[in-house]
Amino acid sequence: MSDPLLEVTDLVKTYAVSGGGFRSKGGLVRAVDGVSLTIERGETLGLVGESGCGKSTLGRAILRLEDPDRGTIRFDGQDITNLSTKEMRPLRAKMQLIFQDPFSSLDPRTTVGGSIAEGLRVQGLDPDQRAKRVNEMLELVGLESYHARRFPHEFSGGQRQRVGIARALAVNPSFLVLDEPVSALDVSIQSQILNLLKDLQVELGLTMLFIAHNLGVVEHLCDRISVMYLGRIAETSSRNDLFDSCVHPYTQALMSAIPVLDPTRRKDRVILEGDVPSPLNPPSGCRFHPRCPVANTTSCVSEQPPLVSVGSAHEAACHVRAPKEADWGRVRT
Ligand code: SF4
Repeated sequence: MSDPLLEVTDLVKTYAVSGGGFRSKGGLVRAVDGVSLTIERGETLGLVGESGCGKSTLGRAILRLEDPDRGTIRFDGQDITNLSTKEMRPLRAKMQLIFQDPFSSLDPRTTVGGSIAEGLRVQGLDPDQRAKRVNEMLELVGLESYHARRFPHEFSGGQRQRVGIARALAVNPSFLVLDEPVSALDVSIQSQILNLLKDLQVELGLTMLFIAHNLGVVEHLCDRISVMYLGRIAETSSRNDLFDSCVHPYTQALMSAIPVLDPTRRKDRVILEGDVPSPLNPPSGCRFHPRCPVANTTSCVSEQPPLVSVGSAHEAACHVRAPKEADWGRVRT
């Protein structure tokens, strides 16, 4: 039976931008444009797309670090869309963000023990309780208790990310948004952190939204994956279904870019022409049409494809690969 911890419905987040230059006009960036998703308790959903597709904005809006323009966010059964800063305070510990660059989120003048204990102080723990919890957290993420007395610059990138994870987990959250947590790390360190996150997810029963620009990174960690393009969801499916039978041309292009050692699993590389269009002036119809290798209908240029069900818990938005007139039934617009 479905038991979602997070339900997002038709979320929209726009930014007004000023021109900033001679003759240049400002405008409205639709960073997130009508996104709906759910994450079950204990599930990890991967959110994948190129830089600028709106995935980080979506993550921040879900945590209410950005105010959405429209739509609904329900967390643990409660509608949190319009809660004030004060009303959000009790929920902050439950919903934590782990950053791409933990260095930027750690105070360089505070020991990592002090940083990890910060949220515990807010929760009212006394100094002994805080010290005990800091030691537990350092051990949980594979560091030593003496690391608590050190400063962020004394750690390697991988160790700093472990500190970032320890700090987020110290306040006992049930939901984590991980915003490209390994993309700044060397490949060998990436796998250590991904393995750590996978172990912690199982051990603590965490629910996670894992944001990445590369499908290869989310392959072994996520139960389901949503692919995002220019503010909208292009395809969502279970991890296995997506890797075995993705239908959206954009997902297929991302899939073909994953380095694979086994030659029998290698896919023909799909090279996408051009850059991601500006979200200030997105293309008409399907936003992917200027780069799509299979765009061939008038609808591709004139009509936004709806997200339709193409299998069990598998949805895609494509006039050609997921036509709505097929007997799949339209599920969302
Ligand atoms: Fe390509 Fe058309 Fe499908 Fe968009 S709707 S992904 S342009 S085929």
